[in-house]
Amino acid sequence: MIVASTSRPKRRFGFSKVRPGTPGELPLQFRTRRFGMRAWQVTGFALGALILSVILSSSAYELVRNLALRSEQSADLRQAYVSASLVNAGLRTSTPNIVEILSGLEVPSGSTPFLFYDSKWYSTSLQAGRNVIPVDLRHIVSNKSPAFQRFILNSKVSMAVGIPLVASHSYYYEIFSFSDLERTLRLLTYSLALASALTTLAGAAMGLWTSRRLLAPLEEIANAASEIAKGDFETHLVTNDSDLLALASSFNSMVDALKNKIAQDARFASDVSHELRSPLTTIQNSLEIINHRKDEMTPRTRQAFEFLVDEIARFDRLVQDLLEIASSDSTSTNLVMEDLGTFELLENCFRSNRSSGFILDISAQLSGTRIYADKRRFERIIDNLVENASKYAGGLERVRALRVGDSLRLQFEDRGPGIPDHDKVRIFDRFARGSGRDRRMLGRGTGLGLSIVQEHVRTHRGRIWVEDRNEGGSIFVVELPLQVGQDVLWETTFETGASVDEVS
Ligand code: ADP
Repeated sequence: MIVASTSRPKRRFGFSKVRPGTPGELPLQFRTRRFGMRAWQVTGFALGALILSVILSSSAYELVRNLALRSEQSADLRQAYVSASLVNAGLRTSTPNIVEILSGLEVPSGSTPFLFYDSKWYSTSLQAGRNVIPVDLRHIVSNKSPAFQRFILNSKVSMAVGIPLVASHSYYYEIFSFSDLERTLRLLTYSLALASALTTLAGAAMGLWTSRRLLAPLEEIANAASEIAKGDFETHLVTNDSDLLALASSFNSMVDALKNKIAQDARFASDVSHELRSPLTTIQNSLEIINHRKDEMTPRTRQAFEFLVDEIARFDRLVQDLLEIASSDSTSTNLVMEDLGTFELLENCFRSNRSSGFILDISAQLSGTRIYADKRRFERIIDNLVENASKYAGGLERVRALRVGDSLRLQFEDRGPGIPDHDKVRIFDRFARGSGRDRRMLGRGTGLGLSIVQEHVRTHRGRIWVEDRNEGGSIFVVELPLQVGQDVLWETTFETGASVDEVS
């Protein structure tokens, strides 16, 4: 029983071994996470930067606030003592004028002096009465001890200082406002908050940059893997980063091992086919001799003989196809890629198929274009598709050669039974035969033709697929890259606009 796991998979990237024939043991596929590696990295860096900057900002704020408070406090205390001594001196005159004494004090802006003298309260401020002085402070000072207290006055931090003037039996109070300090601290808070936000953004940018740098090799590996999947085994990873050397070298060893394995398989198929060729030729020669005496055979023997000839011909075709497959990979030594004129190449290749009676329609847009191709393989692609059309679809109706972007597109259009959707991809596999309506030829072919064509198309870095034709039948489409951005050496003999060349 398979139980769906609700726990999150621990490893987000790793390798697993898929053993053939044990579907029950296939590892659970990782669910793709919405939050990818890059997003994690960016968020992690941003969060880290935010936490760090908040810690640094709050400690810096606390430090500055304490220092500023302490220096403001000692300055205010000094100021209060200076004022108190001036008041004390003023009171010791024979006829002290208290209002004059208090208004003569040079107090800083925002501070208010109070005097308790002869059981009366005096102040220079009309707004603030003695009630603003905290009761506790008044109590301490009335016991002849100087004191100060910080408190909130009108939602602002203020400090009250009380100094007993013993000689004049009075008490001097002064209230200082910390609003300047508060304004400075508010500014500091805004600056630190801005700095934290900028640091967080810088952290996120750093995360993005490092994730790009970290993921770049992975993207390179993915690109290399997809090139290899397309059949280009010359693809290797190169690096000058000592940390990535091990990864690059194991990747390259894997590619080499894969290439060797494929070459070995191809060699084996080629050897087997070669070994089969000589007995096959002997059998074919013998059959040829027997064929001369066909008239002397009884009808049953003749029928058996014809059946044998058919099967040997099919066997011969199979051996030829296997040899072709063995040499079809791009690493093969018999691959001869040449810079060729597209018109010239198409003309030459279709010349041998002129008897097939289809319309060859070459677009004028291809004039002057060039293609990098192996003539023999290119011809094999065309011959095979033409031959398939006559085998399975009663012949081709039209072949179009067009320029689509920087590619040559060849469309082989027939009026045959068409290819069912479920066969459209499968027929390009080795030994795959169609399951279409026209079953006359079914079982006659080797099922290797289209896979050879696909290999040749891949060798040319192109694509092949099959489409339904609106009027019935199918269209085999081959797309091969043209040589672009190169000096055109070959001049077309076709006039511009003369795009239709009818072959009969
Ligand atoms: P073979 O080498 O035996 O001819 P192919 O690989 O060339 O086999 O083709 C595979 C199958 O694709 C054939 O068995 C046939 O059913 C189908 N097929 C190929 N070309 C056409 C076509 N033009 N119309 C219909 N079916 C086709």
